[in-house]
Amino acid sequence: MVSGSHRPTKLIIDTQAISENVSQEVARLPKESELFAVVKANGYGHGAVQTALSARRGGATGFCVSLLDEGIELREAGITEPILILGVVESMYIDLIVRYELSVTAATQEWLEEAQQILAEKPLAQQLKIHIKVDTGMGRIGFTSGKSALLAVETVRSNPAMEWEGIFTHFATADAIDAEYFTKQEQMFKEIIQQLPEQPRYIHSENSAAALWHPESPGNMIRFGIAMYGLNPSGRAITETYPLKPAMQLKTKLIQVKELPQGAGVGYGKTYTVSAEKEWIGTLPIGYADGWLRHMQGFYVLVNGKKCEIIGRVCMDQCMVRLPEYVPDGTEVTLVGESQGEVITMQMVADQLSTIHYEVVCTFSQRIQREYK
Ligand SMILES: *Cc1c(COP(=O)(O)O)cnc(C)c1O
Repeated sequence: MVSGSHRPTKLIIDTQAISENVSQEVARLPKESELFAVVKANGYGHGAVQTALSARRGGATGFCVSLLDEGIELREAGITEPILILGVVESMYIDLIVRYELSVTAATQEWLEEAQQILAEKPLAQQLKIHIKVDTGMGRIGFTSGKSALLAVETVRSNPAMEWEGIFTHFATADAIDAEYFTKQEQMFKEIIQQLPEQPRYIHSENSAAALWHPESPGNMIRFGIAMYGLNPSGRAITETYPLKPAMQLKTKLIQVKELPQGAGVGYGKTYTVSAEKEWIGTLPIGYADGWLRHMQGFYVLVNGKKCEIIGRVCMDQCMVRLPEYVPDGTEVTLVGESQGEVITMQMVADQLSTIHYEVVCTFSQRIQREYK
């Protein structure tokens, strides 16, 4: 997909904020612990490569992605640090995993057996680096019992074509105030770790929420995602341990400003009718194809620090706002971020859309150009 480099709609990414969020967390970690920056899904919409480079400046020593292709993207950009693929990659691609020196997640014994067979039939130049995933209560991927996880460890250790690089789990409720379920998961993981025949290079369990609020969780590496982008993993539920700096703003410019008389309609379906004698209406070059979704109708944007309601239906490429007064075409509009002391946060957008800010940042489409500061 092309991104619109010749229109004023831009996601402005503060790379310094990413570095600072990472370095604040690194400073809190025990000396022997490492921070892997989670840059899956195009760096939560911020740009995978740019985020990875910014995180590295802040002290990240490795990266996590979700797809094989995302790992390849980082390697092709010249990133040489360890990269772990958190998702399941079909075993038929293990030659690519090895070729790009990526580490992969093993979540079932069947997958390991397929991999063993492929490696036996077609020996590769280097070992396949494996992290064993333990499902301690997320119910998503991984070995669901200590016994099956330890068998997987043995399978990997006994195969010279494989390197046992890590073991990990993922918490389902690290962002919740109630820690009961979290503690259960943590306990199960601790018990498994105690039974390991040796320590792999990486043991890891913490996502951002666990890193912020459960820093004692087991491991010598953390998988730091949403907090690196400056967003509170819990939304509004728990206050941040230290101030996070949001890295993404969304800005555009008014492409047309006009005065409409009482009774005039705005947008598809004429869901908005001018009620005052006259109203100033501004059009923005952003719409639902950009991830500025139709449910944003009724929310607002900032023009010169003033709130302007989004009126009428959001179109595919454009939407309209009601302006408190005349402003010229080309005036800057803030959809997310700061304008003359007034702020719209990702959380506010998420609230409007009845979702979480993770989804908001991932929903901004490739059509919006990213600009790095
Ligand atoms: C996405 C993901 C993370 C990062 O989670 P955040 O909440 O963004 O910190 C960590 N671990 C796994 C397994 C993930 O899928």
